[in-house]
Amino acid sequence: MMSFPGEGDVARIHQDDVEAVRERTDIVALIQQYVGLKKSGRSFAGLCPFHTEKTASFTVDPSKQVYYCFGCQAGGNAFHFLMGVESLTFPESVERLAKQAGITLRYEGLSPGDRKAASRRQALFRANARAADLYHRFLVDHREAAEARRYLEARGISKETAVEFGIGFAPGYPDFLLRRLAREFSPEILVEAGLALKDAAGGVRDRFRNRVTFPVHDLTGQAVGFGARLLTGEGPKYLNSPETPVYRKGEMLYNLHRAKAQVTDSGRAYVVEGYTDVIALHQDGVPTAVATCGTALSEGHLRLLSRFGRQAVLAFDSDEAGARAAERAYGFMSQHPVEVRVLVLPEGLDPADFVKARGAQAFQEMAEAAVPLVEYMIRRSLGTQELGSPEGKARAVRETLPIVAGLQDSVLRSQYAGVLAELAGVKIREVQEQLEWSPRGISAEAERSRDRESPRPREPRDHPIREVEKEALKLLMQFPDLAGDRLEALDDEHFSYEAHRKVLAILRKSTGQPPAEVIGRLQEERMARLVAELAVEPVKVQGQVGKEYAERVFSRLEEFFLTRRIDIMKKRLERTNPLTESTSFDSLYEELIALEGERRKVRARAGEGT
Ligand SMILES: [Zn+2]
Repeated sequence: MMSFPGEGDVARIHQDDVEAVRERTDIVALIQQYVGLKKSGRSFAGLCPFHTEKTASFTVDPSKQVYYCFGCQAGGNAFHFLMGVESLTFPESVERLAKQAGITLRYEGLSPGDRKAASRRQALFRANARAADLYHRFLVDHREAAEARRYLEARGISKETAVEFGIGFAPGYPDFLLRRLAREFSPEILVEAGLALKDAAGGVRDRFRNRVTFPVHDLTGQAVGFGARLLTGEGPKYLNSPETPVYRKGEMLYNLHRAKAQVTDSGRAYVVEGYTDVIALHQDGVPTAVATCGTALSEGHLRLLSRFGRQAVLAFDSDEAGARAAERAYGFMSQHPVEVRVLVLPEGLDPADFVKARGAQAFQEMAEAAVPLVEYMIRRSLGTQELGSPEGKARAVRETLPIVAGLQDSVLRSQYAGVLAELAGVKIREVQEQLEWSPRGISAEAERSRDRESPRPREPRDHPIREVEKEALKLLMQFPDLAGDRLEALDDEHFSYEAHRKVLAILRKSTGQPPAEVIGRLQEERMARLVAELAVEPVKVQGQVGKEYAERVFSRLEEFFLTRRIDIMKKRLERTNPLTESTSFDSLYEELIALEGERRKVRARAGEGT
């Protein structure tokens, strides 16, 4: 029997009530709010929200009312799911589901202080819901909201859409909400909910004033915060709720709770820049648009989308905005099973203008032709270069190469080497050659920032992997006695740079020969230069070059090698179903454990004497 953290707290809520809530909750309907599920035999399957995966190993069994993930072994009932996915405690998840099921809970042995803490999150949800309602009613009914209604009309947002999205208006008074909510909520709660602020003098006033308000909902459709646009007067054009215990911007996308079913069906979501773009697209027949809430696109956003769709199209009105988001998405693209594409709309139209002028059909067609993220980055980088001359082409390839070299997947890397060659008008062999001099899978962003830090561009500070690989080769060449039989023991996989692998092969073929002779035979000038450098550059040790230093360098080399193998093994495990492929799962798992043990030993050795 599995035990779950927080299970002990169950004593505080009457056990009969917990059972009643469990019986009344449909676990499939609950999980569907968070994960795109597809029917598979008698159960449902989807992508696990608790670990990153590309194939659906997360299953929900409606007859047993449980879920289980074959990938990460997460499992349990509706309460446990909510605890995991919303970071709730056991009583909090019981409370949440009790509310949805319409069951009033009885508490045992709970102090008033405990109860207050447990219901604080509930208060934050309620306060946001009440505020959304007040703002919305004011927009719809009040004569003082006439200008706000005209603003929406001018943006082409219909009354029905305003109702559907709960759009509202916060009038200019400093205490519009405070006064209306005073009986239900303390000023402290309203401040914690981000609806009010404390000023320097210690007074409390409404945060949103004279602004059109767009409530932001979590995946279950509860209001958790606002984006608010200034109508007239002073202040930033958009103001957003601050982060609160129920509003984490890095893991929240505007409109995803409405869009998620269609995103699951079509497999695709559009990420646009603003609330009004999302709303205009929805109104004009594209219901699958979402937006970040006043924050830059993050890893958490893509992780969230990957639960529902396989493709995220970043749709922007300008190259600038597209490039910003693309750069960020590139930084964490290997972590998530979403394919990111970039769509820059023509003539500087934003998605709202575009869909209004040309219709949903034209928008979807444009999206079909959206460029894959990496290709977009390559095109953009080349676009800033002069490709007319051989020198220009060489520079363009050099500048753009880190984008390709940074890809972790070797198939992708060679595919995009071809794209780069074609777009730059050079031979693919030339790009591949240069790739051999770039480290694998080290992000282009990291490379570039390293270069920026370095005051001398000819001698960029070495990446630790590159440095260790070079030290190992130097020891092999300059101190064969210290290196012992390592030349035989090492193989290609110990080196992550193609150029270093070539040096290793050269050394194997020419043991005992003087470096000058070896270098003389090398045809490729760059390779000859590297071998010469490795033959004469002093090793980086203070004091005596001894057995101890050699031991440390080769242990580090082994450690990097093991880390790469462990990463590969983990990815393979993730794709293996432990039930249907139990033999290979078990042997992979054993291998992984063995590798990790080996790495621990190697680490200890590398650390000795330092
Ligand atoms: Zn999982």
